Amino acid sequence: MREQLRLLEELQRYDAHLQEFESALKALPEKLQSMKADLAKVEALLEKEQQGLADTEKFRREQEAQLKVDEASIGKAKAKLQQVKNSKDYMAAQREVEATRKLVGEREEEILRLIEAIESTKKSIAAHETDVAQLREHVVREEGVITERVEDLRQKVVDERQHRDAVATKVRADVLKRYGTIRMRRGLAVVPVVMGVCQGCHMAIPPQLYNTLQRGNSIEPCPNCHRIVYWDELMKDKELERGEESPAVKPE
Ligand SMILES: [Zn+2]
Repeated sequence: MREQLRLLEELQRYDAHLQEFESALKALPEKLQSMKADLAKVEALLEKEQQGLADTEKFRREQEAQLKVDEASIGKAKAKLQQVKNSKDYMAAQREVEATRKLVGEREEEILRLIEAIESTKKSIAAHETDVAQLREHVVREEGVITERVEDLRQKVVDERQHRDAVATKVRADVLKRYGTIRMRRGLAVVPVVMGVCQGCHMAIPPQLYNTLQRGNSIEPCPNCHRIVYWDELMKDKELERGEESPAVKPE
């Protein structure tokens, strides 16, 4: 029975590793996805900013074209001023010249404002382009690292499962079934009893059961949590007999 318990412990270690590897296999692609989503977000913001700049530049070109039209119409209004005969027409033509001049002045100011805005937007875009390029590089690097890690983990799962299954074939069928059922419900299926206390549920084991466990001739459940329990000292002897060797645990 000691051997069976030892095998169960070993099985449990393999199962714990498998669970750990599998949750990492699930978490790593999720991490990559969320990094890619962040990148897409900042790329979209940058694109919006670039579109805004293009719109402003278009508006500036329109204003400059309109400025030329306005300047030409000042010229026409001035020429008209030369030709008028009566003072009423003269006043009207002069008002037209003044109004157009005012318009030209306003448009020139507007164009200056646009030039300033364009310059500052260009600076901000350049900074954001650098940020986005860095983030993109980071994502590419991380993708490489994660892909490698995933491949490594997949291989580990294959290896670990092989070892696990090899151990499982040595466990008695009824014991293996019990182990499987408890593991599904409780996570840990096999736990030591230390100083008369079950390490799964931290309840004291009845003295009679404790005596039974110390003999180590049977597989017994904890009356409280139903996990398979063993006397910790019993396995310590076994470990001493086997020396330092611990085939189940590979350091991560
Ligand atoms: Zn218990």
